[in-house]
Amino acid sequence: METSSTDYLIVGAGALGMIFADQMLSESDADMVIVDRRAAPGGHWIDAYPFVRLHLPSAYYGAGSRDLGTGRIDEAGHNAGLYELASLPEILAHFDRLMRERFLPSGRVRYFPRSEYLGEGRIRSLVSGEESQVTYRKIVDTSYFDIRIPSTHTPSFSAEEGVAVIPPNALPERAKDFRRFVLLGASKTAMDAGTWLLQAGVDPSAIRWVRPRDSWLINRATIQPGARFQMAFSANQAATLEAAAAASDIDDLFLLLEAAGVLMRIDRSVTPTMFRGATLSQGEAELLATITDIVRLGHVTHIAPDRLTLDQGVVAANPDALYIDCTAMAFARRPAIPVFDGERITPQTLRGGVVCLSAALIAHVEAAYEGEALKNHLCTPVTLGEDREDWLRWTLADIAAGARWAEDADLRKWIGSHRLSGFRAGEARPETTDETRAISDRIRIARPAAVANLRRLLGAAG
Ligand SMILES: Cc1cc2nc3c(=O)[nH]c(=O)nc-3n(C[C@H](O)[C@H](O)[C@H](O)COP(=O)(O)OP(=O)(O)OC[C@H]3O[C@@H](n4cnc5c(N)ncnc54)[C@H](O)[C@@H]3O)c2cc1C
Repeated sequence: METSSTDYLIVGAGALGMIFADQMLSESDADMVIVDRRAAPGGHWIDAYPFVRLHLPSAYYGAGSRDLGTGRIDEAGHNAGLYELASLPEILAHFDRLMRERFLPSGRVRYFPRSEYLGEGRIRSLVSGEESQVTYRKIVDTSYFDIRIPSTHTPSFSAEEGVAVIPPNALPERAKDFRRFVLLGASKTAMDAGTWLLQAGVDPSAIRWVRPRDSWLINRATIQPGARFQMAFSANQAATLEAAAAASDIDDLFLLLEAAGVLMRIDRSVTPTMFRGATLSQGEAELLATITDIVRLGHVTHIAPDRLTLDQGVVAANPDALYIDCTAMAFARRPAIPVFDGERITPQTLRGGVVCLSAALIAHVEAAYEGEALKNHLCTPVTLGEDREDWLRWTLADIAAGARWAEDADLRKWIGSHRLSGFRAGEARPETTDETRAISDRIRIARPAAVANLRRLLGAAG
């Protein structure tokens, strides 16, 4: 058995592992080993459906050492007027080039693709079956959220012979053989599949959507990066905090956020109970609202050619329909745990939905700070989104993280100049004007009232 040693053993070559390693390369002289079951860097994206794109602007995604995309604003389509969203090939190329052009030539990263980490420093090749032993100073475990996607998960429903059920990966190829389509699941993936079908010219009346729950959605226009949108971004923050401060109860809160344009829902006749941070443009939400055959009877449990059995009832089905399985629960719902725990580092999001900057910041804190208590203070993780109450938790965590980071001038500077903060290298910050000052005042005044009220609302919600 081959044996070797390293400073950081990184389990997973997905976004978290790659970004952690990228930042450590920039800020330390550490040696690293990266191991992943998959054959190439990129994590879950390797098995993603071909029409997936980022749901957030490319500026917030990928590694800190290089841009993703060209900083273009889309001119056509449902994202027109907003910053580009990287396509699957762009995301994969980003991680592939990072590995080939930066990690491996550095001589400080060894990469074990198609290999499984078995624990206690043991790595087994899924090709040869050979094992190697790595001793390490620290282990960086990015498998905590156990991301599952439709092409690799096992559905929790059964289907009879003759019923066509596919993952979204097969949709572009199989769609031509069908005239009726059923989307299974309320996830962002189902939204993507619906959008793809509609954009391919399928009539909305030919699509049924089995949606156990409805979701509150983030309006992408309100979280645009860079100087050009800075004023709108801050105005959105002010409106968010003012709504949070004013709401009389949770229903009222979401109606206020919707009225302010911060959040959206696809069907305005239904009160959503879900919030997972899914982000859409207004045009995408309006497009999806043209699908009106919505089945809201819980999760599907069995599909027969002529009927669909769900948690709360049975509905007739068209035997010629194509079922698109979008039911994979993307993330395991696990509690937030300390990021730094002895020799173990568990990267998690430090701000709701902020995946990449969180991974980079955790590496920065690991490289630049001493003492586990301080490191965990600076890197307090948030739970992933699921229920609408998680919007309140994210907002409280966001304010708390902002306050902790603001206490440390060096960290504030580091975040402000990092490319994942949304500003391109060398991009000038907007000048302070009476208008920007007025927005800052609104934020300053609303923030404490928002914190108090959100805590009250969460307490009342149990
Ligand atoms: C469809 C979709 C769209 C998304 N869009 C965005 C977006 O626009 N913006 C954004 O910020 N986030 C987005 N996300 C969030 C997403 O979670 C992150 O972007 C990121 O890709 C997650 O990376 P990860 O490293 O946590 O997980 P993964 O990509 O799952 O990588 C973990 C890797 O660890 C490997 N692994 C686990 N255990 C072992 C083991 N024992 N041995 C060997 N290997 C192991 C797995 O094989 C896997 O490749 C999206 C997520 C999905 C599912």
